[in-house]
Amino acid sequence: MNGTVYLVGAGPGDPELLTLRALKLLKHADAVICDRLVGADILGFINPRAQFHDVGKMSGNCQHQQDDINHLLLELAQSHRRVVRLKGGDPFIFGRGGEELLFLAQHGIPVEVVPGITAASGCAAAVGIPLTHRGVAASVRFITGHLQENAGLTLDWRSLADPTCTLVFYMAVANAPAIVEALIRHGRAPDTPAALIHAGTMAGQDHAVAPLWQISALIDAFKPPTLLVIGDVVQLYARRDAADTRPDMPAQAGAPSRPPLPCSPEFA
Ligand code: SAH
Repeated sequence: MNGTVYLVGAGPGDPELLTLRALKLLKHADAVICDRLVGADILGFINPRAQFHDVGKMSGNCQHQQDDINHLLLELAQSHRRVVRLKGGDPFIFGRGGEELLFLAQHGIPVEVVPGITAASGCAAAVGIPLTHRGVAASVRFITGHLQENAGLTLDWRSLADPTCTLVFYMAVANAPAIVEALIRHGRAPDTPAALIHAGTMAGQDHAVAPLWQISALIDAFKPPTLLVIGDVVQLYARRDAADTRPDMPAQAGAPSRPPLPCSPEFA
């Protein structure tokens, strides 16, 4: 009798952003396979008797590494009742959750997907950037800045020049200069505000804001996990109330350690 695999989103980092379903599954898991982006605070919720596998070092874009993870999931599902595959953010947003779901389905393993707060939502909320805003941004696009096997970025650049669309690039640290250059070349205004957000909702959260044409110059100070957000909505973050957004809550481990940096003068 096969067990069930739960593809669980752990959210962007702050353990308080875990769903109740995710928390319940972690506490009752018989086996857990975990990714690099899941923080220690969240790992602390895992049933101490569960068999634990950290595949963080294995994860990446190599297909053979993903094949190893798929086969580990299958083996565990054949020997355990509740197998939790824990992933940063949401399993279906740049998380390879779809590949694991298809593989397991082909082998007759029941799968349940538990959504998580994706980095775009978590980071934008943590910094105070609304991803859409009436009269400013009518849509938002989540885009990978890193393609399989480091293939060139073949995106529909002209559609990304639409000034009413907020762009959120995941995994963009290495390719940020190429992304910025292509966007400007295809018509996105060079003075469009942009933000780099590192470790959003985590203890080491940091961010910087600059016009698009200048953002590449700041990238060296940012290591993964970092998101690149581009669009006129970025300038709105300066207008929010500077007061604590959760005044009723005590300070949490894993919450941002300091308030956002003041924004650059040109966006004040
Ligand atoms: N499934 C995840 C994304 C995995 S891809 C999700 O839904 O969020 C990994 C990329 O996500 C990182 O390179 C980074 O661009 C982004 N990311 C994930 N967590 C982040 C965080 N806390 N802060 C900033 N970027 C993050």
